[in-house]
Amino acid sequence: MTSQTSVKTLLILGASGDLTGRLLLPGLARLVTSGRANGLTLVGAGSDDWTRGKWQDRIRSSFADASEKADDAGKKALAGVADAATYHQVDVTADGPLAELLGSLEGPVAVYFALPPHISQKACETLDPSEVPAGTRLVMEKPFGSSAASAHSLNETLAALVPEDHIHRVDHFLGKATVLNILGLRFANNFLEPVWNREHIARVEIIFDEDLALEGRSRYYDNAGALRDMIQSHLLQIMAFVAIEPPATIGERDLRDAVATLLRASSIKAPFTASTRRGRYTAGTVGGKDVPDYAHEDGVDPARNTETLAEVQVEICNWRWKGVPFILRSGKALGTKRKEAIITFHPVPHLPGGFAGVDSPNQLRIGFGPDTLQLDVDVNGPGDIFSLDKATLNAQLHASDLLPYGEVLEGVLTGDPLLSVRNDTAEDCWRIVEPVLKAWAAGEVPMDEYQAGSAGPEGWLSSPPAKPSTASVTQGSAS
Ligand code: NDP
Repeated sequence: MTSQTSVKTLLILGASGDLTGRLLLPGLARLVTSGRANGLTLVGAGSDDWTRGKWQDRIRSSFADASEKADDAGKKALAGVADAATYHQVDVTADGPLAELLGSLEGPVAVYFALPPHISQKACETLDPSEVPAGTRLVMEKPFGSSAASAHSLNETLAALVPEDHIHRVDHFLGKATVLNILGLRFANNFLEPVWNREHIARVEIIFDEDLALEGRSRYYDNAGALRDMIQSHLLQIMAFVAIEPPATIGERDLRDAVATLLRASSIKAPFTASTRRGRYTAGTVGGKDVPDYAHEDGVDPARNTETLAEVQVEICNWRWKGVPFILRSGKALGTKRKEAIITFHPVPHLPGGFAGVDSPNQLRIGFGPDTLQLDVDVNGPGDIFSLDKATLNAQLHASDLLPYGEVLEGVLTGDPLLSVRNDTAEDCWRIVEPVLKAWAAGEVPMDEYQAGSAGPEGWLSSPPAKPSTASVTQGSAS
């Protein structure tokens, strides 16, 4: 596949940063080798006194993996991007230099703010609308603000510079393929939508358990915690795709309208001792590796009382979902890595007399990255045909050929904001979690403890991880 992007120059502010080297450049590399970034010039900027050669070396090293796997044309394209790349030393918070740089580049330019959030905000505030050339796209990383009010103020700053559909608020968690897998499952299958409501669904859990601990990111994480880091942004987005009303099209307007409507109907209700839980890991072992007590990790201030595991119960007050708990949970240093949504159906209203065994409610599990589907159904068990047993139908779904940040960049470069978080949604996600953050800061909800490598504090988890499946289907074939 080859294509010309609508953006001519990708300007990365924060060229020396972790995000740029570890995620952005490798994501871009696959776009380049697949011919989807033809004609793009890469420009780096930062406060470091780097030479052009040092920036090019960084690009080459981040491109190395993709280059190894690429054919000759792909290798040549990657080398071309690195050879043409330029670097500019700029203090983006000073009045003038960023606007000057922006004006000197071939447009349209996409400006990627790979900077600490407060620096990104300040950089945007230094820009005057008259200094931002038409067609410029602004790419903002998470966290977008730190409250509904600060997100609103940042939205106003950005809105003065470029139109809303030129602002990309990045949520890299759900790639395009995953979002479309959820939407395809829900809206291209007639048997599901009629039961996708409070009449048939008892609860929905959205779980992102990491086995990783801090991995040297205490400076960021100890100020954020699991609720801000994962639930406020990513898990609320997944919840929205699982719960939205059927859109007329999957174009950005219809889809983002549906997401915004759903989130406006969502809240976490007090008392927060009933609707939320928080926990912090103690010393333990994950995957054979010793993990220290969170409070003793380098760079952690235990007085901040930062949670490493958070669980909240969201209520969606609309006709479809009233009364169905949406449980969102995410945490670090857990024994089993999980990234899935679990939809639990009500039990049957009447099990015909004569059946023995357990009638376990049907569960549908949607796994994210790799994308999978598992459906638990009750069937006759082995041996006694009157005895019920559970079988699991298992499907492996197609994955994208791009890395998550490749999908983010593809949206930016082609001018498709489908996967970007819209202004109202960014504010609403803060509005939903703010009362909880306040209650936790006031110590209203106790901090539970769990050993690193365990499944979390005693009694927390409703649905255990999936068991090995008994029947499987891979997309396009059945076995
Ligand atoms: P880093 O601290 O690693 O990098 C920040 C970059 O900003 C550095 O290149 C730094 O350059 C530059 N910078 C800081 N101040 C200025 C300034 N005044 N003018 C110009 N450049 C400046 O941060 P990350 O890369 O980790 O994160 C960047 C953003 O991405 C954050 O918003 C973060 O929340 C988000 N993010 C990060 C992820 C990750 O895994 N790293 C994942 C998801 C989101 P210098 O060192 O020269 O000052």
